[in-house]
Amino acid sequence: MLWAMLDSPTLESPLETAAGILRRTFGHAAFRGLQAEVIAEVLAGRHAMAVLPTGGGKSVCFQIPAMMRPGVGLVVSPLIALMADQVEGLVQSGVAAARLDSDATLDERSAIWRRLEAGELDLLYLSPEGLMQPTTLDRLVHQKIALIAIDEAHCVSQWGHDFRPEYRMLGRLAELFPGVPRLAVTATADARTREDIRGELQLEEAREFVASFARPELRLSAERKQGRSDRRVIELVKARPNRSGVIYSGSRDGTDRLAEALKAEGVPAVAYHAGLDRRTRNERLMHFLNAEEAVMVATIAFGMGVDKPDVRYVIHADPPASVEAYWQEIGRAGRDGEPAEGITLYGSSDMAWAFRRIEGREVSDTVRQGQGRKVRQLYAMLDGMACRAAAVRRYFGEEGVQACGQCDLCLAPPESTDATVAAQKALAAAQRLGGRVGRGRLADHLLGKTKDVSATESALSTWGIGKELSPTVWRDLIDQLLFEGLLREDPNDGRPLIGLGDAEAVRAVYRGERAISIRKPAEGAAVGSRQRRARRGSEQASLAPEHHTLFDALRAWRRNTAAEQGVPPYVIFHDRTLGEIASFRPATLNDLAGIGGVGQAKLDHYGLAVLKVVREN
Ligand code: ADP
Ligand code: ZN
Repeated sequence: MLWAMLDSPTLESPLETAAGILRRTFGHAAFRGLQAEVIAEVLAGRHAMAVLPTGGGKSVCFQIPAMMRPGVGLVVSPLIALMADQVEGLVQSGVAAARLDSDATLDERSAIWRRLEAGELDLLYLSPEGLMQPTTLDRLVHQKIALIAIDEAHCVSQWGHDFRPEYRMLGRLAELFPGVPRLAVTATADARTREDIRGELQLEEAREFVASFARPELRLSAERKQGRSDRRVIELVKARPNRSGVIYSGSRDGTDRLAEALKAEGVPAVAYHAGLDRRTRNERLMHFLNAEEAVMVATIAFGMGVDKPDVRYVIHADPPASVEAYWQEIGRAGRDGEPAEGITLYGSSDMAWAFRRIEGREVSDTVRQGQGRKVRQLYAMLDGMACRAAAVRRYFGEEGVQACGQCDLCLAPPESTDATVAAQKALAAAQRLGGRVGRGRLADHLLGKTKDVSATESALSTWGIGKELSPTVWRDLIDQLLFEGLLREDPNDGRPLIGLGDAEAVRAVYRGERAISIRKPAEGAAVGSRQRRARRGSEQASLAPEHHTLFDALRAWRRNTAAEQGVPPYVIFHDRTLGEIASFRPATLNDLAGIGGVGQAKLDHYGLAVLKVVREN
């Protein structure tokens, strides 16, 4: 009796069945984070909203319930590249998945519909506009639908940073598919954006699952731009050879220029931006996804939904637009959970441009104020003195957050020194000069060194009152005052002028009620870079040297296998899986099945070939 009961599948709880699929199909030992809770909610037929950090494993939250519930699971996704990747990965794992997108030929489309109507598909990926086409909806409403997952759901919110008007149409799904559980997933959504998602997608009743925003594998750092930031970017890239990286640049020209400069230095870099035709963009994207070492220099037109797991660094050659954008963009590094870096270069003129753009927008005052606040919060984090990761997580509303212990500020806490008197001088000088000079001229004025100075200027009481400090310290202090909003920069078409900022705050500094401190220059920065170098060494050592030969051989095998099939290497196996294989050296299929990321289908397809590579190396 007892054994019969143990054998009976009906006694398995839905969540146990789900865990079985996770193991057999995806090769993962256990659910992590909030996955199990989200899956249980959807399996119970209820709507849900899941906010999980990038790399947190959002996809299985809808893939597994779609496989378990009767009917096909519809997945709405904003980008073809994202769909292609997920579908390819699913097919490799033996899941019946397909995508209907504008690239598909008529024959492909009818084949997909045939499979769907025969009940053979577990997952169908579509773009929002593709799904909401009347002809598509007409056919789908007659089908059994397991669930509807809306990926990158923050795209529905104008408040967020990736607003896509097409996403608004998805609100109608509630009436079109009553009784079908809908799941909104995203990696970034502050409280306001979450509210928008609920409202727009009619998910008022849905339970909300919000994971920690911690990304322990990411090491963050940021530096103020010094002179030509291109040089610095090239330096950073060249210090990280043989790995994949993404560099974000603020402009199309900047992207092209940087990519050229990198290529001239022998770095395999390509540029990507919306000004390129679609074919070139696709080719470059494919090149990047398929390569193990490739540097993508891109505007933010690139990235959403690009799931290349082995991106080892993201460099912002120009700062992101907000803390959300920051977290999402650097979040594209280290998706395989292996150590990765997020490095940001920023300057006070970037901040000035950001404010300028907001002022030029046709939006209500409240929205404008909200956007202005986001810019200030971003720069407070970038130019701050305390743990960056903690600052971001607090920004997202996490409580009880500890310092990460590995960002540049944790490793080398900047020493600060009081500069209130110097700040008073700088503010007074800016006031006397009446917003007619830029940052360099303001420093020269304080030092009494202005070239061809006019009689009026040298007669001012602030002329030469700052001889005790060096030009560098003055420039740093002026930046600091800009970041604190005490000075304001008018971009003035690339020849920025400096004037006084918030009058109330400036008065507080004059009266000595508000103290200004600046970072102690030089030594701090040197320590930072020394530690960075040391850590780079340890990252390479995460795989013991004696395993490197096998690891390289496995990568070579993967490269060939991927090329034969015309798919990116990581849909075959992630680096992390190859690393585990290299260190455990499985001798049998059974051993191999125990390794993370090796599910049944991959074991069947590649098991013997992998064991052969292990034996021979
Ligand atoms: P995202 O949330 O960014 O969409 P993905 O769904 O692409 O994340 O998953 C990120 C990575 O984590 C993938 O490599 C995936 O295979 C892996 N992963 C997902 N769930 C688990 C799990 N329970 N255990 C181990 N790895 C997992
Ligand atoms: Zn830190």
